[in-house]
Amino acid sequence: MAFVITSPCLHEKSAECVEVCPVDAIHSGKNMYYIDPDICIDCAACETACPVQAIYAEEDVPDEEKEYIEMNRDFFPV
Ligand code: SF4
Repeated sequence: MAFVITSPCLHEKSAECVEVCPVDAIHSGKNMYYIDPDICIDCAACETACPVQAIYAEEDVPDEEKEYIEMNRDFFPV
């Protein structure tokens, strides 16, 4: 499991999540931030730090935001 950044981050790109992540799992994309699921240790610090409630645990991502699970993963080449 990992945490996932969803659509409220689009063009918002508030960097609070990056500052609180203890393992530097959050990387900046063109329009939003993404969480590397292979690095994330599920500490939940970013979820509470996000000012626009864009971050969810993978199993809690709302149905209409589920595409972001794959988008977060795809941002990081294997
Ligand atoms: S849950 Fe913790 S480790 Fe994972 S991205 Fe958020 S702050 Fe980083």
